[in-house]
Amino acid sequence: MRFVIALRCIECGLEYEPKADRYLCEQCGENGLLEVEYNYQKIKLAWRKENLKTNSDRTMCRYMHLLPINPQTPRPNLRVGGTPLYRVSKLGDKIGLSALWLKDDTQNPTGSLKDRASFLAVLKAQEAQATKIACSSTGNAASSLAGNVAALSEKMKAFIFVPQRAPAGKLAQMMAYGAEVLSVRGSYKDAYYLSKKAIERLGYYNRNAAINPYLIEGKKTVALEIAEQCSWVMPHWVVVSVGDGCTIAAVAKGFKDLYQLGWIDKVPRLLGVQASGCAPITKAFVTESPLRETEENTIADSIAVGSPRNGQKALMAVKESRGRFINVGDEEILTALKELATYTGIYGESAAAAAWAGLKAAKREKLIRGGERVILIITGSGLKDTNNALKATGEPLSVPNDAKELLHLFSKKGWIG
Ligand SMILES: *Cc1c(COP(=O)(O)O)cnc(C)c1O
Ligand SMILES: [Zn+2]
Repeated sequence: MRFVIALRCIECGLEYEPKADRYLCEQCGENGLLEVEYNYQKIKLAWRKENLKTNSDRTMCRYMHLLPINPQTPRPNLRVGGTPLYRVSKLGDKIGLSALWLKDDTQNPTGSLKDRASFLAVLKAQEAQATKIACSSTGNAASSLAGNVAALSEKMKAFIFVPQRAPAGKLAQMMAYGAEVLSVRGSYKDAYYLSKKAIERLGYYNRNAAINPYLIEGKKTVALEIAEQCSWVMPHWVVVSVGDGCTIAAVAKGFKDLYQLGWIDKVPRLLGVQASGCAPITKAFVTESPLRETEENTIADSIAVGSPRNGQKALMAVKESRGRFINVGDEEILTALKELATYTGIYGESAAAAAWAGLKAAKREKLIRGGERVILIITGSGLKDTNNALKATGEPLSVPNDAKELLHLFSKKGWIG
């Protein structure tokens, strides 16, 4: 927090004092997303990348100088961040990519990258003296908020608005963590606006990544980790699936911070992946027209966002990185889910696997070349959505309870010897 200068509106440039409960620009309303500005000169004097070598903190708080929080604020007792980066040759070989890595964010405490934002939200809520925090979510933001609240010693209660279609695994998870869960009979957009009204009326702390400027600062730690894990030598591309657009904008922000500090000498190009049945950001990018609401017609629930709340930030981030957006169909996503698990041992949910499907498409279209270094961010665990995974895998082989017949079957399959 020492190094935060202001919150600045991305529309009109107006600056605000960095209060914990400042969300949007007063002039620009819903378009007036704010961005946290740091004094990079001051950070440079206080912090060097060599300092990280002796830093034993393996959570995202390892990058405290680049976080808008007070180091004294009580934290959820969970290891958020510090997820592994794996080189995955078998997967890369499938499409002729010689240097492919996976950033496995399924290994966050509640199973998704959203923990990075929720962790920060729980800190900011306390700094705002709130004891109630609310969000609307397609699932992961909600279950991660519930988990991070559960892991806090201080008094805090989470209220969560989910659209009816949220997968059972995510629902069960957030209920188990003890949050108040409100299943809105409507779309994600409906859940969002209902939560907005409730939050305004009741004065809860707002953990909607869309408008809370601090959450991107939590999510950006995935980029800080990637850079450190790559010894500050940047890949050519980072691939991430896109719903609201907060995650991809956050990845860009993380690299931008490091570039400003002079710790990296270029920023990677970003490939944003959307589902064909719900791709408002790709459409705006390709047609260079304003964002328009679309249907939410995809199995990949975490990126089924018809009216993305961070679309503008996402578009700017990808443009500045000289990146691209690409769409993938549900069939491709299901195939990708299975391949990802089979060739890497990492079981991602459909929205996470969409990133792999998008990379395959980009390689096919020769947007990405075989020799380029690529990092795929795997944003959430498959364990929360068994229904979609079963669509990808099919049912197991049903066998009679009889050894002789089993051996016969094995020999027919060519599994013997
Ligand atoms: C939220 C989420 C995304 C997309 O992040 P946005 O900020 O909505 O663009 C991708 N994958 C998973 C698993 C998610 O939970
Ligand atoms: Zn403004």
